[in-house]
Amino acid sequence: MSSTLQGLRCKECKREYPLEALYFCPDCFGPLEVAYDFSGLDAEEVRRRIQAGTTGIWRYADFLPFETRPASSLEPGLTPLVKADRLAEKLGVGEVWIKNDAANPTHSFKDRVVAVALAKAIELGFDTIACASTGNLANAVAAHAAAAGIDSYVFVPSDLEEQKLLATAVYGTTLVGVDGAYDDVNRLCTQLAEERGWAFVNVNLRPYYAEGSKTLAYETAEQLGWRLPDKIVAPIASGSLFTKIGRGFTEWLDLGLIEGELPAFHGAQAAGCSPVANAYAEGHDVCRPVRADTIAKSLAIGTPADGPYALDLARTTGGSIESVSDDEIRAGIRLLAETTGIFTETAGGVTTATLAKLAEAGELGTDDRVVVYITGEGLKTLDAVREGFEMHRIEPTLESFAETVAEPALA
Ligand SMILES: *Cc1c(COP(=O)(O)O)cnc(C)c1O
Ligand SMILES: [Zn+2]
Repeated sequence: MSSTLQGLRCKECKREYPLEALYFCPDCFGPLEVAYDFSGLDAEEVRRRIQAGTTGIWRYADFLPFETRPASSLEPGLTPLVKADRLAEKLGVGEVWIKNDAANPTHSFKDRVVAVALAKAIELGFDTIACASTGNLANAVAAHAAAAGIDSYVFVPSDLEEQKLLATAVYGTTLVGVDGAYDDVNRLCTQLAEERGWAFVNVNLRPYYAEGSKTLAYETAEQLGWRLPDKIVAPIASGSLFTKIGRGFTEWLDLGLIEGELPAFHGAQAAGCSPVANAYAEGHDVCRPVRADTIAKSLAIGTPADGPYALDLARTTGGSIESVSDDEIRAGIRLLAETTGIFTETAGGVTTATLAKLAEAGELGTDDRVVVYITGEGLKTLDAVREGFEMHRIEPTLESFAETVAEPALA
C-alpha cells in the first residue's frame, strides 16, 4: 500500500520532503502536508477493501500515511451519523444529519488525529509522544499512549475544565498545566519539540496528525450511501479539521468513489475567539491573532495555523464562516440535546448555534441535506449547562409529588 505515498509537500511552494517528523518548509516556512498519488487505485477495488475492513478508521488505510496497515486496540471512528428530523423540522431545513463524534474512545474527534499520529510516531521509531492541548487532545494522547504502552507528556493551559484534566490524568500520563493561554502552551511545545526529540502529535507530527481528520469525510460519504451532502457545518479551532474534511471529499471525488461536487463549507467559531470568522467578514485572506475569551475552550486558538486554507475552502464552495456568542453556544447545546438526545460540549454548541443561525438567515433551505459535525461530549463541559435547569425537589410521598410537580389526573 506504500505505492500511493509520495512524501511531504509544502502547501505554499510545493517543494517535497521525505516522510519524517517535519512540519514546516525550511525554504519558505510554509506548512507541510502528506502527498499521495491515488491515480493507480481502482475505485471498485478500494470500495471493496473499505467494506471488508475494520469497523473504525483503519478501514480507510489506503488514504492514510502508513507503510503498513496500522492496528490499535483503541481504534476510533465509524461514529453514528444520525438523521435529526426533529431538529430539521424546528429549523425549517430539508435534512439535518448529526455526525456524533463524541462516540469515540475518549469522547471527541481528537481520537482520530491521535490514532494516526501515534501509529506514525511508532512507525518512525519514537518512544515518547506529547501534545499541546485545549483539552480533548490531552484526553486522547494520554489514552492512546496508555493503550500502546508508550510514554506521554501532555501540556495544557492550567485553567482548563476540571473534567478534561481528570479525564487525562487518569490514564497515567505526565500532565503539565502551563500558566498561560493555549497559544503560550503551543509556543512552549514548539521549543520542546526541538529540544527533546519527542513526537509532539500536533507540532512535529502535525502533517500526519492532520490526515486523521479526513476519515470524518470518508465516513460521512460512506454513511450517506456513497453520496455527498449539499452543505456541511463544522467547528474551526486551528482550521485543520475543517480543511481536511474538504480534502477527504476531494480525494474520493477525484478517484470516482463518489460523484458530484464539494458541499458548501460553513465554519463555526465562538465570538470570543473568532480570528477566522473575523477575516471572513472583513474579506481578508489571513487571520489577525486574537486573545481568546470564550466558554468554548476546545476551540480557543487565537492564531489558527490553517486559517487561510479554511477561508479559501469556505469561499470557493459558497459557504461561510460564522461566529456565535457564549449565550448562543449554551442555547445550541440545549437545542441539540432537546431535539436529538445528544449532549455535546461547548464546541458542539458552537456548531449547533451556527446551524440555527444559518437556517434563520435563510442560508439553509427545505431542499438542503446538511451534515453537522458534533466533535465532543457534553459531560466534559458541565459548567456550560450548570445554570438554567430546574430540579423539582419533593418528599417521597404522592402528596408532595402532586403538590410540587404535577397534579393527579382527574378520574
Ligand atoms: C480540536 C477540536 C476541534 C477542531 O480543531 P482544529 O484545530 O480546527 O482541527 C473541534 N472540536 C473539538 C471538540 C476539538 O477538540
Ligand atoms: Zn515551501
